[in-house]
Amino acid sequence: MRTVEEHQRVVAGLITARAPARVPIAEALGLVLAEDVVAPLSLPGFDNSAMDGYAVVADDVASATPEHPVRLPVAEDIPAGRTGVLTLKPGTAHRIMTGAMMPAGATAVVPVEATDAATDTVEIRAGAEPGRHIRRAGEDVTAGTTVLSARQALTPAALGLAAALGLGELTVIPRQRVLVMSTGTELVAPGTPLAPGQIYESNAVMLAAALRDAGAEVVASPMTGDDVDSFRAALARHIGQADLIITTGGVSAGAYEVVKDALGAGSSATPGSGGAVEFVKVAMQPGMPQGCGAVDGTPIVTLPGNPVSALVSFEVFLRAPLRAAMGSRQPERPRRTAVLTEDLKSPRGKRQFRRGVLDAESGTVTSYGPPASHHLRWLASANCLLEIAEDVDTLPAGSQVRVWDLG
Ligand code: AMP
Ligand code: MG
Repeated sequence: MRTVEEHQRVVAGLITARAPARVPIAEALGLVLAEDVVAPLSLPGFDNSAMDGYAVVADDVASATPEHPVRLPVAEDIPAGRTGVLTLKPGTAHRIMTGAMMPAGATAVVPVEATDAATDTVEIRAGAEPGRHIRRAGEDVTAGTTVLSARQALTPAALGLAAALGLGELTVIPRQRVLVMSTGTELVAPGTPLAPGQIYESNAVMLAAALRDAGAEVVASPMTGDDVDSFRAALARHIGQADLIITTGGVSAGAYEVVKDALGAGSSATPGSGGAVEFVKVAMQPGMPQGCGAVDGTPIVTLPGNPVSALVSFEVFLRAPLRAAMGSRQPERPRRTAVLTEDLKSPRGKRQFRRGVLDAESGTVTSYGPPASHHLRWLASANCLLEIAEDVDTLPAGSQVRVWDLG
């Protein structure tokens, strides 16, 4: 049997980053920049008013008080977005709104609250020192400055900055494009009636969500029965779009193991020129039957079908390498140790991943649900995985246990 770490290494070795590409900023949230972003323009781009008020020559209003206001004719009205360069003549005021370009010659803005808000002749009731309430061109960003760095993940604020700089696209490490294939003749899409012996398909939506959560893109998630021809046909239909194929089901020891039958030794690996997929047992629970390799040069990872096995396997083998291949600096789930609140048993010789509830405040963790791999309900409300080592078979309450924080 392969250890968890050995299989992690093999799977990680299959997954490689795509070449940097330009993507529209609206699609770039969470992606990692492939190159520095240098500001093509300054922010603000021009001197503009920080207040709704009146642009003036500061000297003209220096003496203004509520008791002795200064009256100035209002020569222009400048809403935000008014284009064209205006010039303020001394002894006059321009009514100006926040964000509007300052007229040449004006040296301060008096807020509307310190005036009578008139539009013909305005009464100014407070002085303003030169520069008051003016946002200077370039005081936020000077053109030519590096404002975002390669390897930085794009947050909402970073995307806002890119937009403010007029950059509609950014050069990023693109999302991994993943094909998710569910196998099983018993599977029926949710929303349609079930015949006796059938179950609803749940791995595709679950893994697709896990992939998107990890920043990847799901190119398709076809469901096939347990016959080699339909599996191969679905694979052939979508393989060209994918950087990685993930299958679920059909890899254990029974009959009708379609993924093994289609891709394993003795099969002419498929479609087209072929590839090599190895099926192995990994010393873990859940998730013992695993497989990986390549089909026509596209990496493939074949996960077991039980939903808990499938998702735990995704967590253990795929999530971190996918995130690493998309440039994440912290591809792994945060891990910590916590104090177990109960006695637990674990199979000797296997790494056990139990679902758990971590109380971060007290630093304690309680297992949640039975260890078997079909108990999806428990995983759905767990917030962590407990990782129990191969050489441990009993774990008394109070033990320190390793925990993967699922957030
Ligand atoms: P397999 O690995 O194909 O032998 O499947 C193991 C168990 O997981 C069986 O009980 C299957 O019915 C179940 N299973 C496999 N694939 C799925 C799926 N996509 N959705 C829900 N259950 C599945
Ligand atoms: Mg099956």
